[in-house]
Amino acid sequence: MDIIFDVKKIQKITYELCKKGKTIGFVPTMGALHEGHLKLVKASKEKNDVTIVSIFVNPLQFSPIEDLIKYPRPFEQDKKLLENERVDYLFYPNAKIIYPADFQTYVSVKNLSNIFEGKSRPGHFTGVATVVLKLFNFIKPDDAYFGQKDFQQCAVIKQMVRDLNLPININVVPTVRDKDGLALSSRNIFLNRQEKFEAFALYQSLLLARKLISGKNKSTEFIKAKIKNFLQKYKHVRLDYIEICNPENLSPVKVISKKAVILIAAHVGKTRLIDNLVL
Ligand code: AMP
Repeated sequence: MDIIFDVKKIQKITYELCKKGKTIGFVPTMGALHEGHLKLVKASKEKNDVTIVSIFVNPLQFSPIEDLIKYPRPFEQDKKLLENERVDYLFYPNAKIIYPADFQTYVSVKNLSNIFEGKSRPGHFTGVATVVLKLFNFIKPDDAYFGQKDFQQCAVIKQMVRDLNLPININVVPTVRDKDGLALSSRNIFLNRQEKFEAFALYQSLLLARKLISGKNKSTEFIKAKIKNFLQKYKHVRLDYIEICNPENLSPVKVISKKAVILIAAHVGKTRLIDNLVL
């Protein structure tokens, strides 16, 4: 696996690959890799001739009160995991390369960025969209892979790709969970034992929603109230939001009559976790 630090170099590599008619699969990450990330890599390896992974902890998507410095960066371990998956190139730029001192252009996917995660984390999706567009410009992938775990992020990226007519297929890969159902996340390492135990309740609450919609009352207010009630039993869980919406455009749903997605965000101790389930 070649590790590339420089924008010009990765552009040259992808230009040559394109000239040779190779398809490029791209997996953007912030590192601290786990089986969830590796599932995206596997999906890319299966579909594309060449797989490029990026590791970049994007300062633009963290708000001032979020802990950018504390974000885990186990680079040597990440490198080994990617080598084991036989990734072709790792793009590993530093922040100065991505955001030089006079940087002043941002991508904002207007409506989708202001709800749910965007409301709780102002500026987050502008940070995400800006860095992803930059990475797409460097790499010019045929396919890019994102995890369903970050459901709203997938919606934002798909919207950006549509709005800007980018010739890139966005592939959404199902969430990888541990044996108890907790969605794998680089932030799970911050959970202590008790918090980890309580974090399982998030997925259980989503399963409860799935069970409830097979009953008579399909009102989303009813389902959300039941979930809030269920989560109250867990003293380390502080709910941020539960939303049930249309999976395509994230518009709110009042009564579940067709496919919907339930999105949940909560603090467990000091760690903020998100999860979702398509109903
Ligand atoms: P991150 O490093 O957290 O920015 O994640 C990089 C990519 O991996 C994003 O597309 C995430 O949605 C995806 N991802 C993170 N956790 C999981 C998971 N448990 N299952 C599937 N994909 C995931």
